[in-house]
Amino acid sequence: MQQASVRRLGADRRRCAMTTAGRSATRGTRAVLSAGKLEQLRAALEEQRAFRIDQLAELAAADSAADAATAAVTVALRDGAGYALVEIDAALNRMRTGRYGECLTCRSPIPTERLEILPMAALCAGCQRARAGGGRP
Ligand SMILES: [Zn+2]
Repeated sequence: MQQASVRRLGADRRRCAMTTAGRSATRGTRAVLSAGKLEQLRAALEEQRAFRIDQLAELAAADSAADAATAAVTVALRDGAGYALVEIDAALNRMRTGRYGECLTCRSPIPTERLEILPMAALCAGCQRARAGGGRP
């Protein structure tokens, strides 16, 4: 009788040690976008992509009927829209390859607040500033 209860106590202690050992596995090393946030940013990119495609179609239609000044504006707008579309497609491609939200230059994670404002951002704010300044410090 006494023997049985002592053995059961030993078994309980072993099980307890096992559960505490399994707990140390969750250790985050860097901030990663949650699945929900990523989905939200993907939807924003798809929406902007559709907008740019519409805009390019409209600009292409307006081209032939325009005078010289309007045509110059149309070309500038078309270049801007085309460039934005390339950036949006590149961001969607990074989502597919799992590299989205990582700065292309320094590899550090781009803050979520920056991605919410600029979902197609490929660089962190620091690297973007360095590039805009022509590489000067
Ligand atoms: Zn960077």
